[in-house]
Amino acid sequence: MREARDRYCRLAVETHDLEFGGLMPSGRSRRARPVRSEFALIRRLQAQAAKPDRQVAIGIGDDTAVIKTSSTEWTLMTTDLLAEGVHFDLATSSYEDIGYRAAIANLSDIAAMGGAPRFMLVSVAIPSTCSTTQIHQLYRGMMRASAPYRVCLVGGDTSASKHGLFLSITLTGVVRPGRALLRNGAKVGDRLYVTGTLGDSRAGLDLLSSRRRRTLSAAHRRFLLARHHRPSARIAEGQWLIKHRLAGAAIDLSDGLTGDLRHICEESHVGAEILVGSLPISAACHAYAAAYGLPPQEIALQGGEDYELLFTVPAGQHARFERLLGQTSFHCTCIGTITPKRSGLRVRTERGTTSPLPLTSYEHFRRPS
Ligand code: ADP
Ligand code: MG
Repeated sequence: MREARDRYCRLAVETHDLEFGGLMPSGRSRRARPVRSEFALIRRLQAQAAKPDRQVAIGIGDDTAVIKTSSTEWTLMTTDLLAEGVHFDLATSSYEDIGYRAAIANLSDIAAMGGAPRFMLVSVAIPSTCSTTQIHQLYRGMMRASAPYRVCLVGGDTSASKHGLFLSITLTGVVRPGRALLRNGAKVGDRLYVTGTLGDSRAGLDLLSSRRRRTLSAAHRRFLLARHHRPSARIAEGQWLIKHRLAGAAIDLSDGLTGDLRHICEESHVGAEILVGSLPISAACHAYAAAYGLPPQEIALQGGEDYELLFTVPAGQHARFERLLGQTSFHCTCIGTITPKRSGLRVRTERGTTSPLPLTSYEHFRRPS
């Protein structure tokens, strides 16, 4: 899916399109200026956003928006756009796989808020090379991924495309008023947890794009490809965290641990220390790393599209969390702690040495170093 994401993609935006809220005085140069950072752009869009509305509990900046729609239920809204050649490659992914992953990307954002998914709108821009059957397969993937949650497809839009396939899903969900899991709730001393295992999807993607075939058992290969093409959204885990009021902050891992942890730390004004030896890594990912001579922890840290949840558990709740976790079938691993902001983001090796956490996750528009 992220086959071509490592290619540098540039989007030239006219400078005047970026003149937001007085941030960039009018009358300055009107030369086309390429966007250099996805997250810097989002921060500017945040500043330009409409004036606050009493019904908007959370606007731009978290995994979903949170809207105060009633006294018993608040609405979650999220959208994700997938572009051929950026998020997926039709040479290595089936239409059904692409639809499946697109739905999971949205479901995962609802999971990160602890919500229950509800209604879906789907827009497609279809190139002339695409058949009706292939679009049906795309939708079959979306339906398969969302069927366990009884998500209802209620509309969308259809267009021709002159530049590849585009797929955009908007998903709503619900959450109890005031209970959504946010990125800004981490406190110094909290433990950092992650669901599932990290790096499988990245390893699966690398297997798809690598020409070099190395010794890897058929079972491990199948596992990694399945984790890439058919990831899970941790909806049940998110709702469980809310039900027992166990988490301080949460985010889903779409760009990679190193980048998504940064979002929690920035929003919560804290630092973090990751224990490299604690990162949950599957046997298949270990086998992949050994076959290709790569450090498995690096694959886990960089990851991307794991769609696991990263969350914090307040220090005083840790014992209760572990006890309640023992009563479930959920797989959660403690991978570090929240530290003061001045300590920054660090990794601690098994030998006890620490170093700054490298920024190796995915970000649109960033030039490769
Ligand atoms: P995620 O990886 O969880 O989907 P993103 O990094 O895509 O989150 O987006 C972070 C926040 O920025 C979200 O609140 C999202 O709605 C908002 N956002 C992203 N792109 C845009 C945009 N083009 N216009 C307005 N808001 C945006
Ligand atoms: Mg997210």
